[in-house]
Amino acid sequence: MNVLVLNAGSSTLKFQLVRTDEERMLNAADERLARGQYERIGGETIYSVSVPNEPLVRGTAPLRDHRAAIDHLLSWLASDASPVPISSIAQIEAVGHRVTHGGERFWRSVRIDDDVLRGIEETIDLAPLHNPNNLKGIQAARGALGPGIPQVAVFDTAFHHTLPDHAYLYALPYQWYRRHRVRRYGFHGTSYRYVAYRYRTHTGRTREQTRIIALHLGNGCSACAIDGGVSIDTSMGFTPLEGLVMGTRSGDMDPAIIDHVASKEGYSSPEIEGILNKQSGLLGVSGLTNDMRELLAEEAEHGDRRARLAIELFAYRARKYIGGYLAAMNGADAVIFAGGIGENASSVRARICDGLQWMGIELDTERNEQTVGGKEGRIDRDGSRVEVWVIPTDEELLIARDTVRVVLGIEHQS
Ligand code: ADP
Repeated sequence: MNVLVLNAGSSTLKFQLVRTDEERMLNAADERLARGQYERIGGETIYSVSVPNEPLVRGTAPLRDHRAAIDHLLSWLASDASPVPISSIAQIEAVGHRVTHGGERFWRSVRIDDDVLRGIEETIDLAPLHNPNNLKGIQAARGALGPGIPQVAVFDTAFHHTLPDHAYLYALPYQWYRRHRVRRYGFHGTSYRYVAYRYRTHTGRTREQTRIIALHLGNGCSACAIDGGVSIDTSMGFTPLEGLVMGTRSGDMDPAIIDHVASKEGYSSPEIEGILNKQSGLLGVSGLTNDMRELLAEEAEHGDRRARLAIELFAYRARKYIGGYLAAMNGADAVIFAGGIGENASSVRARICDGLQWMGIELDTERNEQTVGGKEGRIDRDGSRVEVWVIPTDEELLIARDTVRVVLGIEHQS
């Protein structure tokens, strides 16, 4: 089945075209036919498409909205200029959408119909920054491909539906949960499902035999405790703001700071929320950038004190979460790093793990330094009680596979 995977942002559209079916899934023989993105939709849009073993295609076009971007993509895919092995749009058999928030209603991937659309609309309240964009992507794909092509929603929150109530509830008045659904939802669930699946594939262990602490460290960062194949705790909460230090988000902080700073600086609460989301984290502490690669360069080349401080805060918070999840699961078999920082920044991985030796987590310096740039592998020292892995994440692949499973009615396997 040829599945178009879409991830719609406010002015962006990332896509992948994946060929997969039951047999390909079993043999991990899914084929990536194309991947790429549209940026600055609404103005002079920049697009890039990469097809395996072909030169990168880049260009610009004035595309007014997501629908125009999808039309542009589809007509390119079906054109003679495209080396993608499909000859007409009719060969796209299903669409899988990344949807940020499924609220308490969507605990698994679902086929999109009017009722599901209404359900996603109802969760806008919980994810005002993300779900409206995901909906734009769904509407645009429906419009471009017609109602006959099945569309499936895969939710970032769904993997965390197994959180026990002591992990998902906040110690706040219980009515807030009852009336307003104030609870921990957690995000990055598709990424966690993928890395846990890869770990089981590598080790041959069953779901029940594994206790994993996974860290997804990208622009957004979170940690997850996966016990017996299911998420039992995760660091992001009601929104993706809680938990680890991120590129521009603060992660954990004392909520009393909000009123204090609001009264000192004259900010409104939306302004403070904007600062916590967009001007905090690595950017806020360093005063330089939200980009870990640049911070590492600043630290190495100029000995920048604030860059170092930001990286230290980042690593320290991650280390505390690893410690916390070791306690939550009474130990772990493996720590897994994923996301742009987790997959590439070996020195950050080393700083996170430094101090966890007592708990049985010991890195091998050479393995750690060599496992970068998309490589997958173990980076712990021989004899380390806890394995440490780098597993480049692949959310799009899981979205494609879920789409096929939902369309064909196959029970979820990973
Ligand atoms: P997103 O969450 O938007 O998908 P990514 O997973 O691509 O983001 O992660 C982006 C982060 O990864 C940035 O902080 C970037 O600096 C960092 N990163 C990417 N490559 C490297 C590298 N080689 N060294 C250090 N950090 C890196």
